[in-house]
Amino acid sequence: MTTRRELVAALQEIAGPRNVLWRREDLLVYEFDGTVETQMPDAVVLPANAEETARVVQLCNRARVPVTPRGAGTGLSGGAVPTRRGVVIATARMREIFELDPVNQVAMVGPGLANIQLSEAAAVHGLFFAPDPSSQKACTIGGNVAENAGGPHCLALGVTQNHVLGLEVVTAAGEITWLGVRTQEPTGYDLRGAFIGSEGTLGIATRVVVRLLPLPPSVVTLLAIFDSLEQASETVSAIIGAGMVPAALEMMDRLTIKAAEAGLKCGYPPDAGAVLLIELDGIAELASEQAARAREACFACGATGVRVARDPAERADLWRGRKHAIGALGHIAPNYYILDGVVPRSRLVDVMARVTAIGAEYGLAIANVFHAGDGNLHPCILFDSREPGATERVLKAGGAIMQACVDAGGALSGEHGIGYEKQRYMRWLYNDDDLENMGRLRGVFGNAGDFNPCKVLPSGAGCGELARQQAALRAAGPDAYV
Ligand SMILES: Cc1cc2nc3c(=O)[nH]c(=O)nc-3n(C[C@H](O)[C@H](O)[C@H](O)COP(=O)(O)OP(=O)(O)OC[C@H]3O[C@@H](n4cnc5c(N)ncnc54)[C@H](O)[C@@H]3O)c2cc1C
Repeated sequence: MTTRRELVAALQEIAGPRNVLWRREDLLVYEFDGTVETQMPDAVVLPANAEETARVVQLCNRARVPVTPRGAGTGLSGGAVPTRRGVVIATARMREIFELDPVNQVAMVGPGLANIQLSEAAAVHGLFFAPDPSSQKACTIGGNVAENAGGPHCLALGVTQNHVLGLEVVTAAGEITWLGVRTQEPTGYDLRGAFIGSEGTLGIATRVVVRLLPLPPSVVTLLAIFDSLEQASETVSAIIGAGMVPAALEMMDRLTIKAAEAGLKCGYPPDAGAVLLIELDGIAELASEQAARAREACFACGATGVRVARDPAERADLWRGRKHAIGALGHIAPNYYILDGVVPRSRLVDVMARVTAIGAEYGLAIANVFHAGDGNLHPCILFDSREPGATERVLKAGGAIMQACVDAGGALSGEHGIGYEKQRYMRWLYNDDDLENMGRLRGVFGNAGDFNPCKVLPSGAGCGELARQQAALRAAGPDAYV
């Protein structure tokens, strides 16, 4: 098989003609995942189950065609971008809830189920799925597994790794296997743990067994208002240093508040320098006692006011502002480039000062909205990609911010993954031996280099700069593989 036409015909044979996309207008939405890099696949296939997925992977392996798994494409680090074209395997048709067991508090779902749909189904039984990315209305459980996703409510409860018990997986070799179990922590080597956070480089999750938790009996939500980002950052350390672990502890700066209010009208004070959204939960007495202590800590660090959500509608409004804040940035700039770095909480004040200084140095406005309790920063660099040289300047500023996080003893990603975007920075943290050992794990799952290529580990000669490849591919014509 040498042509794209033959590839499409073979995919149609496996998944049915309706479930294979190959026209340019259909492929366009699969070239992008929210970061600045784009690349169009040769074809997109939407398998119905593990068996069809395995046959597609085997077909691509035989033909040496690159494969890229994709959920909802909200990943933000280029993980779902088909860097070397080939076939995108999209999970949108595998979105069943196979089982929801309130007694054992587990559910088994398809990887294409949207995160929020799982919690909505579980809520009927007084349960919820803890990881709640701000993208939860769109992002998929399979994408959450691949990215080890977090969310505002993961501060106390832990990220996806802590809430997935088992996985049905089609490996990069095209074999169907189970990792983990459904009732307890696995014994033996934890390959489930290795798969979670592997960013679609080891295989495709085709079923996910998740742990569900009881909804808290009582919740108190506070909005603390500050004149400066520095005061808000100090408050984060003060609250956690006082021995509390709130259910959520989120920060938004002046620019983000402005954008959220312009777009969403959710009741944030438009002139504040920063706000913290703090949530305490548990039995009513404990939640209100902790809320009173958190309030005191806010005032001790200079808060000008602390509001308490009076009812579920007000709480929902405060969360609507936080969860849609990134999209609302569109009200103040045509493009944004969102970063994802982690720093020790105790370094928040100085790293945030460094982020502001980098913005000034490169002449760029930076909005900040992030999981402050986890030290997980999301500086959003605002720009207009139509301005000559703007994207390059933004990428340089982004690199400087990531360097500041690593210099502070932090990490390259809290939740969006390394993807294509940050593999070039991996050598700041890992030496050749580390990287080689990580690469060996790919071999165990049968990834010989064509399964989600150019992601996570610094690329070899086969993964040059995307722009160079795009030019070569364009020159080779639409019917060729390179
Ligand atoms: C506005 C906004 C807010 C966000 N907020 C958060 C947040 O609070 N917390 C957070 O963690 N993330 C957040 N994200 C990032 C993103 O939504 C998450 O990482 C999410 O888990 C990605 O899911 P997805 O279905 O969109 O995956 P995709 O973007 O489609 O894929 C992401 C990676 O997973 C791989 N993949 C997808 N499905 C599978 C599968 N079934 N098996 C194996 N590999 C697979 C892909 O190859 C790719 O490498 C946010 C994104 C946006 C746009």
